[in-house]
Amino acid sequence: MMTQFVREFAQKHNLHGRRTVVVGAGKSGIAAARLLHALGAKVRLVDASESLPAETVAEVEKVAELQTGPHSREQFADADLVVMSPGVPAKKLTPYFGDLPARKIVAELEFASWFIQAPIIAITGSNGKTTTTTLIGELLEKSGKNVFVGGNIGTPLCEYLLNMDRADVIVLEVSSFQLQNCRLFHPDVAVFLNIAPNHLDYHEDMEEYLEAKLQLFSQQTPEDLAVVHESLRPLIGERKFTEAEVVWYSSAKRFDAPHLPGEHNRANVQAAWQAVKRFGVKPREAEKIISEFRPLEHRLENIGQKNGVSFINDSKATTLEAVAAAVKSFGKSPVRLLMGGKFKGGDVAELARQMEGRVAQVGLYGASREIFEGPLKKYFPVSWDETLEQAAKRLFTHARTGDVILLSPGTSSFDQYPNYKERGGDFKRIFGELK
Ligand code: ADP
Repeated sequence: MMTQFVREFAQKHNLHGRRTVVVGAGKSGIAAARLLHALGAKVRLVDASESLPAETVAEVEKVAELQTGPHSREQFADADLVVMSPGVPAKKLTPYFGDLPARKIVAELEFASWFIQAPIIAITGSNGKTTTTTLIGELLEKSGKNVFVGGNIGTPLCEYLLNMDRADVIVLEVSSFQLQNCRLFHPDVAVFLNIAPNHLDYHEDMEEYLEAKLQLFSQQTPEDLAVVHESLRPLIGERKFTEAEVVWYSSAKRFDAPHLPGEHNRANVQAAWQAVKRFGVKPREAEKIISEFRPLEHRLENIGQKNGVSFINDSKATTLEAVAAAVKSFGKSPVRLLMGGKFKGGDVAELARQMEGRVAQVGLYGASREIFEGPLKKYFPVSWDETLEQAAKRLFTHARTGDVILLSPGTSSFDQYPNYKERGGDFKRIFGELK
C-alpha cells in the first residue's frame, strides 16, 4: 500500500519507470526494494549470497527481479539509482559500478530520508545507541509527540514510509555500517555517544571508522544541533566536523534514573535530554519519564536474586568498553564476572586494570580463553568452563550474599549462540533452574 506520503514524493522525485538496483537482501534492502517498487521504479535486487532463504526470495520477487551470486558490471550498467544495504560497503563494489556517478549511489537510510519532512534525530556511537534511542523516543512520545523510532534497530526507514502515518519526529539509531554509504544524510539533531575500537575487523582502521561516524554531522547547518560526549573532544574537538551548534555533554547527574545503573547510563540520559530539549519536552516531564525508564532487555538487566546474590544479564555487552561500564555500575558490591565468546577486539589488559578492586572472580566460558585468561589472571582468580551454564554454576558456588553475578561477555556470541538475545535468554534459564 502506498501512503499519501509516498505518493506526493514519488511525483517530486519521479522514479517512475527508472531502473534502480538495490544491493543486499537484508531487512533494509528488501524495504528499499518495496519502497522503490511502490514509487513505480523498475527494481533489481542483487545479493552476493548464492543461497538466500526461500522466504526472502519469495518476498523479494514480489517487488523486484532478484540476482544472486557474484556481482557483475552488467548488474549496474543501466542503473539510474543504486541503493545500498548497510552491511555492504559501496567501496567494495566500485569495480562493478563502471562510470556511475557517486550521487547515484545512496544508502538505504539516506534514500528514505529524501522523503521525510519531519525533523530527524539520529544517534550513533559504539555503545549505548539502542538505550539512548529508546529513551529519546519515550521522552518525545510521553510528552505527546507522534514518534517513529527505528533505523538500525527494528524498522528500516524505508519501511516507515511504506507503512506508517506521518510522525512529528523521527528517531533513528544509526550504525557506522549505515553511515559509510551516506553522503548527504542530514539529521536535525545528531548524537555521538562514544567511540570504541570495535568493528575494527570490518572497518579498515580507526580513522575510517571515525570518518564514517562524522559523516552524520557533515551536512548539518547552523540551525541544527550536534550532541557529542565530552570524551570525544580530544579526538574531534579541533576538527571542523559540523556547521551545527555543538553541545558537549558529560555524565553529570541531572536526573534521577533509579533503574538505569552506572555512570555510562547517566551520560546516555544527558545525551537524550540534550537531544529532546528543542522539541518542547519540559524538564518536569523528562524527570518523571527518566525516573521510570528501565534498562532494555540484555543491557544490565536485573534478573533477580538467589541466596542474596544478584544476577545481571548484560548479554548485549559485545565490546570491552561495555564490560568496563557494566563492572563500574555496582558500587561496592563484589562482581563475579562471566566472559567468553567470539572476541571482537580491544585491550584486555586495559580492561583488567579498570576492573581492579571491583571484580572478585572471572568465570570464562567457551571461545577466546587464550585471549582473556593471561591478562585477567594477573588481577583476578580466573576459571574456564566449556559452557556458560558450567561457568555460571561455578561462580554461584563461590558467591556470597551481596555479590553480583554479571554476564557481560565482551564478545559477539557466535561461537555458541546465534545472537546476544539467545545468549541472554539462556542465562535467564540457567538462573531460573539454579537451586
Ligand atoms: P548499542 O545499541 O550501541 O549496542 P545498547 O544500548 O544496546 O548499545 O548497549 C550495549 C551495551 O553497552 C550494554 O552492555 C550497555 O550496558 C553498554 N552501554 C550502554 N551505554 C554505554 C555507554 N555510554 N558506554 C559504554 N557502554 C555502554
